[in-house]
Amino acid sequence: MENCIFCKIASGEIPATIVYQDEDVVVFRDLHPQAPQHVLLIPRRHIASSTDLTEEDGPLLAHIYTTAKKVAQQLGVDQSGYRVITNVGPDAGQSVFHLHFHLLGGRELGWPPG
Ligand code: AMP
Repeated sequence: MENCIFCKIASGEIPATIVYQDEDVVVFRDLHPQAPQHVLLIPRRHIASSTDLTEEDGPLLAHIYTTAKKVAQQLGVDQSGYRVITNVGPDAGQSVFHLHFHLLGGRELGWPPG
């Protein structure tokens, strides 16, 4: 999608520190990390938020979560623990309208989130 920063990262048009990618998903380091390990998992296909997912996206979601598991191992937080979250809409603070899952780890994470 034109003017979508995460579409541009997925296509390589703008740089990011990519830690994993395949034909369906890209994982890159968050520009403003909130934990020692903070990456974003995105589908290459533009989906604005999880509100726009359909039943047909089930395999994509499964792929994103199994990718999160692999990336957590790669980042060395699979044993200590980590969080995978997606913000939806204004009250949740969504600031980029291309579906993304934050994977945070490397420190004790407070609950509930602010
Ligand atoms: P959210 O507030 O849930 O929409 O999360 C958007 C995230 O994208 C924030 O944590 C930002 O720090 C991150 N972000 C925005 N632009 C970039 C970028 N060019 N490269 C990496 N992360 C980014």
